[in-house]
Amino acid sequence: MNTKEFLVPYLTKTDFILYLQCPKSLWLKKHKPKEYQHYKKPSDSFLLDDYEVKKYAQRLFQNERSQLFLFPPNHPTNVLFNKRLRTGEGISTYIDILEQNADGTYNLYEVKPSTTINADYIKEACFQMITLEKCELQVRDVFIIQVNPDYVRRAKFERHRLLKKVPITQAVRDCEQKTRMEIHNALALLRQNAIYETGCGCYWKTRTNQCDTFEYFNNTPKQKSVWELPRVKEEKLWTLLDRSIERLEDVPDDIALTAKQFFQVRSAVERKPIVKSEYIAEMLNTLTFPLYFLDYETISTAVPKVIGAKPWQKIPFQFSLHILHEGGKLDHKEYLSDTMHGVEGVLHALYNSIDCVGSIISWNAPFEKLCNRTMGQLYPEYRFFLADINDRMFDLEIIFKKAYIDAEFGGSTSLKTCCRLCVHVSHTKL
Ligand code: SF4
Repeated sequence: MNTKEFLVPYLTKTDFILYLQCPKSLWLKKHKPKEYQHYKKPSDSFLLDDYEVKKYAQRLFQNERSQLFLFPPNHPTNVLFNKRLRTGEGISTYIDILEQNADGTYNLYEVKPSTTINADYIKEACFQMITLEKCELQVRDVFIIQVNPDYVRRAKFERHRLLKKVPITQAVRDCEQKTRMEIHNALALLRQNAIYETGCGCYWKTRTNQCDTFEYFNNTPKQKSVWELPRVKEEKLWTLLDRSIERLEDVPDDIALTAKQFFQVRSAVERKPIVKSEYIAEMLNTLTFPLYFLDYETISTAVPKVIGAKPWQKIPFQFSLHILHEGGKLDHKEYLSDTMHGVEGVLHALYNSIDCVGSIISWNAPFEKLCNRTMGQLYPEYRFFLADINDRMFDLEIIFKKAYIDAEFGGSTSLKTCCRLCVHVSHTKL
């Protein structure tokens, strides 16, 4: 192997999925990692859940194996965990669980903390199978071990009920040929020292199609661009971009816009928010004092920590409650559980903080309402109290969706954006 070949980056399973989403993104990640990290936004990390579920999956193959319905003993096996594989052509991967059969073939297990199986998981398993076969290990069966969506946490933790083994051999074999070609092409891309970096195909697509590195590849306006138009369709984007119109304030009158798009353009042109005061007054007049401003923080884990909870159910462990009285007096109450299963403490404190009169105000009310329904299922003695809170709930975000349109928001009405731009307070300081 010469020095140049040695410097070609390895292709991992995660890289391969990124390649399928966008070859350019993968190239940037591997050849210009600093630039890639600069543009890449932090995403939710499920490392702890991944670790915990893998740990339980491994135990099913160890001392408990013979007692389990899930993995009945049929013959002596040799099981390897986190088996690292590298091929001469540049693939590097870890196999979660590799089980050797009596005939010398192998069963491959991919472990996922998820309750569903998506197309990426099949491609990942196929990537693993092909890598094993490139290393001359013959694969017989392929499985995904996933979290059982119907699992309910009991007082005694039954980990064999937590996981589910799903055979996917046929699905993986069905996409094998195509995947081999894609791996070949991904490796060829990684060997390229340069690609076309001034532009990419998503220039003509809506924002939902664009990845974090869109701005790296496209020299477009950072804010108030036509891609921020609410629910803009591709045909409308093409019409604008064909005429080299990239900024909201340059959208001409002859372009047909929806009402929301029209107000956003007007806000950009006038450089100020468009405020529908009458509508806001009408909405606020429906409120009753005292006003309770309620916000939950939740935890959601693959392995539920609360008795009665299901995998990934969002469980409140903290609330913040500002209470505004009619005369203007402001109180603040809060509760923070010191364990991950402190829902009862949350409920007890909430029950003692909210009276039977007054509007409950939240931001993105469907989320708070869902939390209340979940807590009502876990603790039925509180369900009428929680149902009453839901009946009295008012969603403040609706005002920003319908009656306060600011092009500065970039089409977002999240609390983070609106707080930062309206009252110049960072969400993290609230
Ligand atoms: S924005 Fe560009 S780099 Fe990102 S997915 Fe689209 S084509 Fe690829």
